Amino acid sequence: MRYSHYFIPTVKETPADAEVISHKLMLRAGMIRKLAAGIYNYLPLGLRSIRKVENIVREEMNRAGAIEILMPGVLPAELWQESGRWEMYGKELLRFKDRKDAEFCLGPTHEEIVTDLVRREIKSYRQMPVNLYQIQAKFRDEIRPRFGLMRGREFIMKDAYSFDVDEKAADLSYEKMYRAYRRIFERCGLNFRAVEADTGSIGGSSSHEFMVLADSGEDAIVSCSCCEYAANVEKAESRTVSTEHADPRPLERVATPDKRTIEEVSDFLGVQASSVVKTLILMADNEPVLALLRGDHDLNEIKLKNLLDCTDLEMAGDEVVAKLTGAPVGFAGPVGLSIRIVADLAVQGMRNFVTGGNAKDLHLKNVNIDRDFTATRFADIRNVVHGDQCPRCDAGILEMWRGIEVGHVFKLGTKYSKALKATYLDADGKEQIVFMGCYGIGIGRTVAACIEQNHDENGIIFPLPIAPFHCIISALNMKEEQVRVASEAIYEQFATAGVEVLLDDRDERPGFKFKDADLIGIPLRIVVGSKNLAEGNVELKIRGTGEVLLLPVAEAVAKVKEIVDQALKPV
Ligand code: ATP
Ligand code: MG
Repeated sequence: MRYSHYFIPTVKETPADAEVISHKLMLRAGMIRKLAAGIYNYLPLGLRSIRKVENIVREEMNRAGAIEILMPGVLPAELWQESGRWEMYGKELLRFKDRKDAEFCLGPTHEEIVTDLVRREIKSYRQMPVNLYQIQAKFRDEIRPRFGLMRGREFIMKDAYSFDVDEKAADLSYEKMYRAYRRIFERCGLNFRAVEADTGSIGGSSSHEFMVLADSGEDAIVSCSCCEYAANVEKAESRTVSTEHADPRPLERVATPDKRTIEEVSDFLGVQASSVVKTLILMADNEPVLALLRGDHDLNEIKLKNLLDCTDLEMAGDEVVAKLTGAPVGFAGPVGLSIRIVADLAVQGMRNFVTGGNAKDLHLKNVNIDRDFTATRFADIRNVVHGDQCPRCDAGILEMWRGIEVGHVFKLGTKYSKALKATYLDADGKEQIVFMGCYGIGIGRTVAACIEQNHDENGIIFPLPIAPFHCIISALNMKEEQVRVASEAIYEQFATAGVEVLLDDRDERPGFKFKDADLIGIPLRIVVGSKNLAEGNVELKIRGTGEVLLLPVAEAVAKVKEIVDQALKPV
C-alpha cells in the first residue's frame, strides 16, 4: 500500500472526548471515526487490525472443530418471547416494528436464534457434538457507551454455541473452547488471565472470563499469589475469617450525634472500622432484607442476588429505611428489627461489635449475635479485598488487578434448549434435551485492549500478529532518484515475500513521517535515505524496543522477513 494513495487521517491533538488511551490513539491514528454514540466507522488501519484478530479467532475456532455460519442481525421477537428474554433483557435490546407491525430487535447475542436453527435440523445423538460460530456486528443499546470500541453500541463479536448430548459431553466442548481462547489471546500478544466469572443474565452454571490486564479496565479481578485461582471480584469467594474468642460484654447504648458513616462512627467511638457491623437495607423483589457486613467490607450485590434468587435487588429508599427502622438513614442495626437478616461470613465470628441503634443519633456497643439478634442466614455476600486468604489453597493471598473482559465462555446447560424445546433422540430412541455452551469474543474490544497494553508517549506499538501492516518504509525523499528506486525495490520484495508493507511515499519532511509511523504503531520501519544508501545501507528500526540497525538493503529485507515469520509462527 502506498501512503500517498491511502486513507490514514492522523490527528496531532488529543481528542477531547476520549478518556482512555486506546480510544485516544485509535482516533489519532485514524483507525476509527465516531458516527453516533457508541457507533463507529472503521477506517482502513482499524479494519485491518480487526480483520487480523478475526482471522486468528477463525483459525482457532476451525481448529477446535467449530463451524462458521452467519445469522441475521435483525431478529424476530417470537424467539425471544419463547425464551422469556423479550421481557427480561431490558433496554439494551433495541426493539422495533416493521411495516406490518411485526416486532423485531437488533441482535445483541444469538442463543435463541441458533437454538431455533439447531432444533429444526438436529434430531439424533449422531449429529452431535456440534459447535456453530459467527463473526458479526452486534447491537446493544448500552446505557453508557464509552472508551471507543471498548464499549460500543454496535460492535463486532465472535459468538459460538455448542450442542451436546449430555453434561459430560458439554463439559468437553467447553474445555475445547477454553483452550482455543487461551491460544487466541496468546497469539494476539496479550497479557491476560482467565478468571472464574458470574453467569449474569445469559444464565447457565459456570463461566470464565478472559481478562486483559490494564489499569483502565472496568472489571476488578483477583488472583491467588500461590495457586491457579483467579476470579472476577463479582464472583470471587471469601473464606470465613477466624472466630474471636472474647466473652460477651453487656450491651450499651451510645449517643452518636450526626455520625452516620462507618468512618464517622468508628472515629467517634475510637474503634477500628472492622469492629463495626454495617447494616444495609435492600429490597429484593419488593421484600426488605437486612445485609450485615464488617465495617471495612463492601456488599457484593451479585452474590446476594444469587443467594436470594430474586430478579430485582436494590437499596431501599430513605423513606423505606425510616419506616422500617424508625430512624433516619445512617442508624440502622439488626437489634430489635423483625426483618430477615443475611449476615456475611466475616460477621459470623465477631464479638462485641458496634451497630446502629434504630433511633436518630444512636448506636449500640457490644452487640453479640444470638444474644441480641439472630441472623436468618450466614453467607458469603461481600467483595473480597486485596490480602484475603485464597478460597482454594492454604498458602496464598488474593491479589487485585484491573482487567478488560475480551472473552467469555459459559456452560449454559439446558436453559435455552428447554425453553425452546431443542431435543434429540438418544441411542434408545428416547427424547432428550440438548446441552449447550456459548462463547463470545469482542473483536474490536480486543484490538482496543491490545493498545491499552502496547503503547508509549509517541503512539501505538502493535504486536506483529495484529498490526495493520508489518513494516513501513519511510522513504526520506522520494524526489531523489536513488531513494525512490531503492524504496520501490524493497516494497516489491516485501510484497512477494508476504510481508505486509506500507510505503510512505508522501512528499513530507522526515520528522513528520516518523511521527505518523510511531503513532500508527507499525512494528518494523525501514528508513531509506540518500546518505545511508550511498554506502548501500538502510536503517531498520524496531518500534517496540527502539533498537536501530544499519544494514545492507538485502540483509534488512531478510531480517524483516525473519522477524515477521518468527512472530507469525503457529503456537
Ligand atoms: P460487559 O460486562 O463488558 O458488558 P458482557 O458480559 O455483556 O460484557 P458478553 O455478553 O459475554 O459481554 O459478550 C461477549 C464479549 O463481547 C465480551 O467478552 C466483550 O469482549 C464483548 N462485548 C460485550 N459488550 C460489548 C460492547 N458494548 N462493546 C464492545 N464489546 C463488547
Ligand atoms: Mg454487557
